[in-house]
Amino acid sequence: MAGRAATKVLSGARVVLPTGTVENGRVIVEGGRIAGSAPADTPSLDLSGHWIVPGFVDMHVHGGGGASFTSGTAEEVLKGVRTHREHGTTTIAASLVTGETDALARQAALLSELVEQGDLAGLHFEGPFISPCRKGAHSEDLLRDPDPAEVRKLIDAAHGTAKMVTLATELPGGIDSVRLLAEHGVIAAIGHTDATYEQTAEAIDAGATVATHLYNAMPALGHRTPGPIAALLEDERVTVELINDGTHLHPAALELAYHRAGAGRVAFITDAMDAAGFGDGTYLLGPLEVEVRNGVARLAEGGSIAGSTLTLDTAFKRAVTVDRLPVEDVVRSISANPARLLGVDDRVGSLEPGKDADLVVLDADFTLKGVMRKGAWLREP
Ligand SMILES: [Zn+2]
Repeated sequence: MAGRAATKVLSGARVVLPTGTVENGRVIVEGGRIAGSAPADTPSLDLSGHWIVPGFVDMHVHGGGGASFTSGTAEEVLKGVRTHREHGTTTIAASLVTGETDALARQAALLSELVEQGDLAGLHFEGPFISPCRKGAHSEDLLRDPDPAEVRKLIDAAHGTAKMVTLATELPGGIDSVRLLAEHGVIAAIGHTDATYEQTAEAIDAGATVATHLYNAMPALGHRTPGPIAALLEDERVTVELINDGTHLHPAALELAYHRAGAGRVAFITDAMDAAGFGDGTYLLGPLEVEVRNGVARLAEGGSIAGSTLTLDTAFKRAVTVDRLPVEDVVRSISANPARLLGVDDRVGSLEPGKDADLVVLDADFTLKGVMRKGAWLREP
């Protein structure tokens, strides 16, 4: 539906482009995409005093709005997707927690249809090939060593929509599985791991390129045992995921990682579970019961942190106002980098003519005021 009727001009805002921030900038939307120019008499929406940034891209999220991507029906999954969209996340890869292989394969087939219809950008398997020592909120009795044939079975079940598999690469079969994933164009992400510094470096050399929620579910940084954290931060080939909710990471730990890796190698994620955008209560994460109190999700048994209730608008605001990161850097880490990793940066992740008109309007305090996806307001500023 190109043409005059569909043309919108947003004006007066600070617009964050890949080349930097433009004061008093304009964004032209036509036919669901960003356009380079508009007829002179096109009416415009004045967004003075606001920021316009690209729509957020979440490459690690398990659910929201009361719905789980691991166990939900298509309708429930879409409810979770809509919840995150209302918080500015216009592109979502659905993450599945550890489950029985057959159940994961069935859910992957269901989710792959939502990828085909454009509601999801791909799938992420977090487990079952993770370390029992660092299982976090995954069921221990369902964990397995990363046998390449099993890994293959899972990614095949996703019909080409698998984008990332998180695994503990130090386990038997780990390195071969990393190679298999790399050969199939699926990201091998190191996480829920008990690897040493050296074992982590070996996995990166084999083709692993992402650190699943750096710091969480892996050995701590020690001065004689630097472990996976140092290996993942120092290697230019690796992007590190960070959960910026103020609970998963101390601000100083976030700052250390952010400055070591640089804005180009950080992806802000939510790792959100069902309660995101929904509220406190009792939920299931896979088969495990999770209690959410004051927005913090913990396993009912043992008290392990069990994902977050974060949405990316909150992560964005925190990154700018609490962590004091430059807005342009946050935009790279929350939109451009995950879009590139998911292989969808030809369509989303930055405000450039020809790309989808996916954008977020923030006020001067970085509170979310508007969300547009493919040229349509989901939340009008
Ligand atoms: Zn996760």
